[in-house]
Amino acid sequence: MSELEQLSMLIGGKPTGAISGRTFTSENPYTGQPWADIPDGGTEDVDAAVGAARAALDGEWGRMTGFARAARLRRLAELIGENAERLARLEVNDSGKLYREMLGQLQGLGGWYHYYAGLADKIEGAQIPSPNPNYLVYTRREPVGVVAAITPWNSPLLLMSWKVAPALAAGCTVVIKPSEHAPGSTLGFAELIKEAGIPDGVVNVVTSSTGAAGAHLAAHEGVDKVAFTGSTATGRKVAAAAAEKLHPATLELGGKSPQVVFPDADLQAAANGLVAGVFAATGQTCMAGSRLVVHEDVHDELVRLVAERASQIKLGDPFGADTEMGPVANKMQYEKVVGYLSTARDEGATVAYGGVADEGLGGYFVQPTVLSVKPTDTVFREEVFGPVLAAVTFTDEDDAVKLANDTPYGLAGAVWTKDVHRAHRVAAKIKAGSVWINAYRVVAPSVPFGGFGDSGIGRENGVHGIDAYLETKAVWVELTGGTRDPFTLG
Ligand code: NAD
Repeated sequence: MSELEQLSMLIGGKPTGAISGRTFTSENPYTGQPWADIPDGGTEDVDAAVGAARAALDGEWGRMTGFARAARLRRLAELIGENAERLARLEVNDSGKLYREMLGQLQGLGGWYHYYAGLADKIEGAQIPSPNPNYLVYTRREPVGVVAAITPWNSPLLLMSWKVAPALAAGCTVVIKPSEHAPGSTLGFAELIKEAGIPDGVVNVVTSSTGAAGAHLAAHEGVDKVAFTGSTATGRKVAAAAAEKLHPATLELGGKSPQVVFPDADLQAAANGLVAGVFAATGQTCMAGSRLVVHEDVHDELVRLVAERASQIKLGDPFGADTEMGPVANKMQYEKVVGYLSTARDEGATVAYGGVADEGLGGYFVQPTVLSVKPTDTVFREEVFGPVLAAVTFTDEDDAVKLANDTPYGLAGAVWTKDVHRAHRVAAKIKAGSVWINAYRVVAPSVPFGGFGDSGIGRENGVHGIDAYLETKAVWVELTGGTRDPFTLG
C-alpha cells in the first residue's frame, strides 16, 4: 500500500483524514490497480464540513468585499493553471480520460474563476420605485449561504468549478462532495485553496466510498442550497431531499442528445462532429451526441464515414501522446456499457463498427461503436454513457424534429445543414438547453448550460449563473420619521 498516493480531505482549512480513520482506494481503470488512498468520510465528517462552512460565512469571508473575493478567485485561477499537469494526472488516474484532453481542460479551467471574479465586484442591488413617496426601497443581493456541491465522476473539476466559481463570487461557502469513483482531483484542487488566500472553511471537501455522504449533505439542515450534477435517478433523490428542507437546488442531469444531419450537410464535418460528440472522453459526457438522426438519402454515406473514423481510433494508455480513446472509467460503468451492446444486438441493431468490448488491452476498454437501429431500440432511448452511436433515419424536417425530441431528456443537440434558414428553424424546435449548429461539444464560462425535461433544473455558467447563489433582500426605509397608524398597511 505504501506506493499509493495519499490524499486528504479539506475541512475548516485543515487537510484531514476521516474522523473514523477509514480510507478507501481509487482504482485506475487503465491498469485496473488502486493508485490512491482516499479518506472515507462519513456523516460526522459532513457535519464537520458544514459547520466549518457556516463558521466561515459568519467570519472574515462574510465581511469581505466582492473586490477582495475577486482577487482571491483570480489567484485561484492562476494556481489551477500552474498546477494543471498535476491535476490532469490525478483526473486521468481516476477516470482513464486522455491526459492531453484533461491537460487542455485543466489549463482552461481557470477561465471559470476569472469569469466569475469579473462578476464578484459587480453584484448590485437596485433602488426600487415605491408607490408611497414616504418610503425609499432598495434591494441587496446577498449570498445564499452554505452550498452543497455534489459532483459526478466524469469531469470532476470542470463540473465542480461550474458551481464553486459562481458560489465563491457570490460570497457563499461550499462543501464539495466528489464522486466515490473519481475523488482524487478534487482533493488535489483542495490543496490550492489556502495559497489562494481563501479563508479557512470557505471551501471544504469531503470524500466517501458511498453515496451516503452525498445524501446526508443534500438533506443537511446546515446547508442553504444544493448544486448537483449526476444521473437523473440520483437527481430525483436530491431534489426530493432539497424539497423536504425547502432548499433551492440546481440539477444538471443525464442526456440522450440528438445530432440531426440533413442531406445538404458537409458530411465530413458532420462525421467529425459525431466522433467528437460520442467518442471523445469515451462517450462519458452528459452532452454525448449519442443519437444520430440522419436523412435517409445520406445515412449510408455518413455511417460509413463515422465507422471508418471509428475503426482508426487508437485505444490505449490515456497517457500515450497518440491515444485517442481511453478505457471506460470504472468496472460498474464498463459492465453497463457492455450490457447495452448486448441488448442492442438482441434487438436487431446493425453494427457498422465495434459493438463489443476490447479485451485485448486489459482495463475496461470498449470499441467505439456505430449502430443503425430502430427509434424504439433501447440503445436509442437510454443514456449509455459510453462510446456508442445509434443512428435512425428520417424523411422530412418534421419527422427529424419529432425523432430528435422523442426523449424525456433535453440537455443538448446539434443540427448539421448548410441551409441557414433551416439551421435556425430546427435549432429553435429542438427541446434542449444547448444546440450547436454545424458543431458539437463546445462550452464556455460565459454561455449558460443546463437541461430541459429530465436533464435538469436551472442553468450553470453565464452572467445569470451567479443568481443561483444569491438571495434578494428588499429594504424599506421610512422617510418621514413620523408615527403611522398601526392598523393601515403602507
Ligand atoms: P451519480 O448520480 O451516480 O452520482 C453523482 C454524485 O451523487 C456522486 O458524488 C454520488 O456519490 C452522489 N450521490 C449518490 N447518491 C446520492 C444521494 N442519494 N444523494 C446525494 N448524492 C448522492 O452520477 P455519476 O454516475 O457519478 O455520473 C454520471 C451521470 O452524471 C450521467 O447520468 C451524466 O449524464 C450525468 N452528468 C450530467 C452533467 C450535466 O451537466 N448535465 C454533466 C456530467 C454528468
